[in-house]
Amino acid sequence: MYFDLHIHTQASDGALTAEQVVDSAVKTGVPGISITDHDTINGLEVALKYKKDKKLEIDLVPGIEINTDWEKSELHILGYYVDYENTLLKERLQDIKDARYERAVKIVKKLQNLGFAIDLEEVKEKAQGELIGRPHIAQVLLEKKQVHTIREAFIRYIGVNTPAYVPRYKFSPFEAIDLIKHSGGTAVLAHPGLVKEQEKIKLMINHGIEGLEVYYPEHNEVQTRDYFSVCKKYDLAVTGGSDFHGYGDEKRNTAIGTVGLNEELYKEFQYRCCRNK
Ligand code: AMP
Ligand code: ZN
Ligand code: FE
Ligand code: FE
Repeated sequence: MYFDLHIHTQASDGALTAEQVVDSAVKTGVPGISITDHDTINGLEVALKYKKDKKLEIDLVPGIEINTDWEKSELHILGYYVDYENTLLKERLQDIKDARYERAVKIVKKLQNLGFAIDLEEVKEKAQGELIGRPHIAQVLLEKKQVHTIREAFIRYIGVNTPAYVPRYKFSPFEAIDLIKHSGGTAVLAHPGLVKEQEKIKLMINHGIEGLEVYYPEHNEVQTRDYFSVCKKYDLAVTGGSDFHGYGDEKRNTAIGTVGLNEELYKEFQYRCCRNK
């Protein structure tokens, strides 16, 4: 079992609560994890408190995954050891949440205009007070039998180039990197193998990204080796994780602790993240 530094909970788009994630990791003997929800830190405090109350033996690294866009590439920036009480971090994450809410209002209106029986309240309920995403909207459409599958909702109505599509608020990778560093964290480029324009990776390094997620379920051996070399060449942290979401979905069925860092790499990662603090 590896130290798994990329895990989602219900606070973003995962299926399990933070407590369930911690329990599952402890039960299967995973030595350490990082909860890295998209654009929110709401699972972190819950997990840390749970660990303390239950006196569990597991390392919990505070983390986040900020979704950003730059030209044609979607770049996900991981932040490790962020101070989740930092005011600016909290403010900017609240901005993202507010923007997502406004976007959901627009999407629902468009769907209503298309004749769908869908209500904002139903969508809000699905999100349970957390950030609203299109999957929540798709879920409501599915449950109300307005579509046959989640996929159909995306392909016909809420995906790019469909009638009820509304783009997401765009956070830039540069702002995400600066924000993570400002809140005391280490900024790492998530799953570089999935970046559409590979030349963006070098530009991220020039802009101060401090690590690459080398170990990732969708990286092949060649990619893993190449990104590892890039880390050595530019003196970057090596990280890794399963990107566990807890769904049976074919792309995301990697169990907690099956991808990540061995103890030696984990110690080095910790040293890099914490040496200047
Ligand atoms: P949002 O962040 O609100 O734009 O929603 C993006 C999320 O929607 C992605 O992370 C996926 O989980 C999901 N998604 C996007 N496209 C599809 C699709 N074609 N079928 C199912 N889920 C999708
Ligand atoms: Zn996710
Ligand atoms: Fe990601
Ligand atoms: Fe992720």
